[in-house]
Amino acid sequence: MQKFKRSTAGRWLGILGSYGVDETFFRTAHGPCPLCGGKDRYRWIDKGGNGEYFCSGCGPGDGLELLSRYTGKKKGELIREISPKVDKYTAIKKNPAPNGDARIRKIMKESKPVSSFAGGIVRKYLKSRGLKASALLREHPGLPYYEGNKVLGVYPAMIALVETGTALASLHVTYLTPDGHKAPVPSPKKLLTPRCDMTGASIRLTKPYPTLGIAEGIETALAVITLYSKPCWAAATAGMLEKFVPPEGTTSIIIYGDNDASFTGQKSAYTLAQTLTQKGFGVTVVMPRLIGDFADEVKNV
Ligand SMILES: [Zn+2]
Repeated sequence: MQKFKRSTAGRWLGILGSYGVDETFFRTAHGPCPLCGGKDRYRWIDKGGNGEYFCSGCGPGDGLELLSRYTGKKKGELIREISPKVDKYTAIKKNPAPNGDARIRKIMKESKPVSSFAGGIVRKYLKSRGLKASALLREHPGLPYYEGNKVLGVYPAMIALVETGTALASLHVTYLTPDGHKAPVPSPKKLLTPRCDMTGASIRLTKPYPTLGIAEGIETALAVITLYSKPCWAAATAGMLEKFVPPEGTTSIIIYGDNDASFTGQKSAYTLAQTLTQKGFGVTVVMPRLIGDFADEVKNV
């Protein structure tokens, strides 16, 4: 058993995946449990690298426990199946940035989905821009704004989860005023230090769809959802847009680019278009009519 534990350490993502456990269950954010369902009772921790998880519905366990209950197979049987091919499952490194990790955990704990605030500040902010909130956004009641090590103020904030297919990589924070405007700070939008490799990550504003839109900014993506009633995610930055990796099951991508006077947005949109076309995706690039982004289009409607 100890030998099995050692040899499988750090490989549970691959092992569970190979038995058909969906990648959405390998998030450190709260979500439904692969064993007993629910909405937000479960999260994957993988703290010791043994696939540890916690569920407030059916209890905690490790990767082997999860797999045994998921497949209905006895643990001994699974050990016999997995052991001979353990090297085939890629090992994943532990989170390299403990500070970022602790901060992200704290903010996740202190924030709530926007839907749990009647007349919330995030909804007020988005409404003032003609945008509907996504249920996947969160609101933090009062988050310290740092410039270097100095706290310049405490503001309510819109929190967006930056996720790879398998992990919560970072958080995107928009600092707000209580009456729903951007906070008067040097950079009201911040992408926190990631807790793991962020390559390919994005802000999921809807569930995945076979045809999915991707935009650079959150407001831009929400504008696409509002204007066209089409699912759209946000990449957070132009650099991340270029490296966006569509989720499992998505075959067509509509890139809603930014029409920048500097051509930064166009360059990122077409770089991504080229990469995804080469990978076999159906790709369309849509640009706003005027200089700006689709969030500006909402104002012009
Ligand atoms: Zn459960």
